[in-house]
Amino acid sequence: MESHARVVVIGGGVTGCAILYHLAKMGWRDVVLLERKELTAGSTWHAAGSLFALTSPSSAAVLQKYTIELYPKLEAESGQSCGYHPVGGIHLARTDDQLTALQILRSRGKRNGIESEFISVEEAHRLAPILDAKGLKAVLYEPLKGYCDPASVTQAYAKAARDLGAKIYRQTPVTGTRPHPAGGWTVVTPEGEIRTDYVVNAAGLWAREVAALAGIALPLQPVEHHYMVTETIPEIAGLGREIPNISEPSGGYYARQEGKGLLLGAYESKCVHWAEAGTPLDFSHELLPDDLGRIEANIARAVQALPCLETAGIKRVINGPMIFSPDLGPLLGPYPGLKGYFCACGVMSGFNQGGGIGKVIAEWIIEGEPSIDVFFWDVTRFGDWAAKRFTRERTKFFYEHRTDIVYPFQEFTAGRPIRTFPIHDRLADRGAVFGFNFGFEYPLWFARKGEQPVDCYGYGRGNWFDAVGEECRAIRDGVGLLEISTFAKYEVTGNGVAAWLDHLLANRMPRTVGKTVLSPMLSAKGRLIGDFTVSRLGEERFLLLGSGPMQRYHLRWFAQNLPADGSIRVENLTARYCGLHIAGPAARELLQAVADENVGGNALPFLSAREMTVGPCPNAIVVRVSFTGELGYEIYTPAEYQRTLYDELVSRGKAVGLRLAGSRALLSLRVEKGFPSWGVDISPDYSPFEPGLGRFVRLDKPDFVGKASAQRLAEAAPKERLATFVVEANGVDCFGGEALYRDGELAGYVTSGTYGHHVKESLALGYVRPQYYEHDAAFEVELLGKRCPARLSQRARFDPEGTRMRT
Ligand SMILES: Cc1cc2nc3c(=O)[nH]c(=O)nc-3n(C[C@H](O)[C@H](O)[C@H](O)COP(=O)(O)OP(=O)(O)OC[C@H]3O[C@@H](n4cnc5c(N)ncnc54)[C@H](O)[C@@H]3O)c2cc1C
Repeated sequence: MESHARVVVIGGGVTGCAILYHLAKMGWRDVVLLERKELTAGSTWHAAGSLFALTSPSSAAVLQKYTIELYPKLEAESGQSCGYHPVGGIHLARTDDQLTALQILRSRGKRNGIESEFISVEEAHRLAPILDAKGLKAVLYEPLKGYCDPASVTQAYAKAARDLGAKIYRQTPVTGTRPHPAGGWTVVTPEGEIRTDYVVNAAGLWAREVAALAGIALPLQPVEHHYMVTETIPEIAGLGREIPNISEPSGGYYARQEGKGLLLGAYESKCVHWAEAGTPLDFSHELLPDDLGRIEANIARAVQALPCLETAGIKRVINGPMIFSPDLGPLLGPYPGLKGYFCACGVMSGFNQGGGIGKVIAEWIIEGEPSIDVFFWDVTRFGDWAAKRFTRERTKFFYEHRTDIVYPFQEFTAGRPIRTFPIHDRLADRGAVFGFNFGFEYPLWFARKGEQPVDCYGYGRGNWFDAVGEECRAIRDGVGLLEISTFAKYEVTGNGVAAWLDHLLANRMPRTVGKTVLSPMLSAKGRLIGDFTVSRLGEERFLLLGSGPMQRYHLRWFAQNLPADGSIRVENLTARYCGLHIAGPAARELLQAVADENVGGNALPFLSAREMTVGPCPNAIVVRVSFTGELGYEIYTPAEYQRTLYDELVSRGKAVGLRLAGSRALLSLRVEKGFPSWGVDISPDYSPFEPGLGRFVRLDKPDFVGKASAQRLAEAAPKERLATFVVEANGVDCFGGEALYRDGELAGYVTSGTYGHHVKESLALGYVRPQYYEHDAAFEVELLGKRCPARLSQRARFDPEGTRMRT
């Protein structure tokens, strides 16, 4: 075994082998994979191998499509069969909501070229004569569905990687990973040690144990999962061709052909966790005792669609463990604080996701960043708060509800609450309905007297619609108070901090104390990796405000870019500081009533910030910015002042009609203003020029991270442009993901949707190809399966000149 390699991948399941292959394919041949037993010895060998590409979010669908389309190429390259059967698949709908769920899935797929079409029930029966079409409302056909042979796929990646020069050592368990102070790692095995620049933890069922070798804990928990394979089914045997895969939303099962019978997999309605205390080190090509009783309900539902199951003999029952993160998505990317340590763990669906994961991990290592946004799978989306109990409860909930319909704006209460800000109980007493943001509870909306403070989900307007309307109007006409403590807050200090931030961020940093700017943060390739409000609070002291869920991601990036001499300090204030936002024409009057200093006239102009005494707090930081389009102030204080400041604002606010508001009101107000929001309308999938943030990129300043790429992108035409759409929706609103058409041609997609309660229009923000970016042009938006007329507006629907927020 070599004593040095550029990358050591730990784990020879489908994930590790796909990563090794992609590293070698991208030209890094000096790469090694270590497998404790034999390849496939974790979850991989007993997987069902079912394939599908239609999924959310959009980038996950891109990666799944990539993975599936790779199989024929991999077979050709390696000379090894993947057992790939591109038989297509059908999704069945029995209820209106199931049909709508499929219509949404189909519309979303269009953005990424994932085709699907509704076929008649008769056609479905022709494709799968074992299907009982009784009670079916609709059938969606997805050509990319199919299945593969898990062991063959893994061997094909391994063979192709070896052919390119990569090395694989079996029966070589990793027993230690030691970081070196100067960078790089030593990977310890009984066969010797390997010095390497990068370690990739792709240890699947043992990812927790391998993580522990590096001193870290990952939020992962294995669960048991059943499928069974039937004996020959005569209707299938006599067909002379294969039937498509079959599944249904809320069905709790998936079925596909296996030999001349069926394979039926089940998401049990009672999740059973496995190996909570740790995965046994001697577990290998083994199964767990099966218990068909646990999947009886799933079988009953499947029998309704596939009556042949009732009489089919059972050839094999598989109960195997697979390992999940709290949202069942993989944990990918560089682990914060461990230079050169990558995670590729918790891969739920390795045969759909493995190729895509291999690609993005290889890009991340070799090129420094993945080619598409993978934040939804980034290891940094969870913090320390995602501890054992949370992981246990979330994995249980999401496993048991794996095939359930997820409604627009749906929040999940499992495992919550974990972290609350000090006024949580006060807001709850006032009818707050809470959402979840990086472990914290925050208000979505406030139920009015006589209303239940709970979300009722469906495809129409939510039960919060009228209350949110009142919150919006209160902000446009008077003043509203929003709890914004979940915004990420970083204090950046040190000698030369302005110059450092000027290098890290794309806008020019404020030259004078008290000024605020908005600034994108770019990757080396010029992609958006952050969007901050930056305030200069002192000569060598700045406050950065950004997206809450991105905080670990941002801290990882800051740490990578900090000078080695320790001259700059970044402190995450998010959990220690709280934020209250007052917005509306009466916001100044209210602030003046609680502030010790004059805040009128030019004392605190738009885009300024000042530390001052506000109410009980001697050192509140007041930032004058606006995401609502109104005069607004964000007031940040140490957490211990939040209750008393809140009480004072509420008490003083009575005179000016203060109303509490939540994030759903903010959505409506910001979309009226055409303001994009991080993670929804803007992400690493875009350069700053597509969403119209180019004005915050100062190409005339000295070098900064991403400048050369930004310069190139600025000169080229943007791929897409963000616009506002006014939708004739007839009582429903977009919520994101809907396809946009111009003259019948696919022209773009929606990213945010809501009702504009002030402008009284149904609104959406969405991207269109540049040739379609034309003011007042007529579009159609595919909303809940129907094409509705929509008009593109290049101007904000509310106060396009921005006079209100500057008054
Ligand atoms: C019953 C069942 C059905 C499934 N059906 C499907 C399906 O239809 N479609 C789909 O896409 N997915 C399916 N899955 C999920 C799929 O199996 C997993 O997503 C996939 O196998 C995960 O692969 P992995 O490489 O990440 O992990 P694993 O397969 O667990 O591989 C990890 C590897 O790391 C090795 N390792 C661990 N520790 C060390 C160490 N210290 N040193 C060296 N090596 C180490 C292990 O021996 C193992 O080989 C199914 C899973 C189950 C249980």
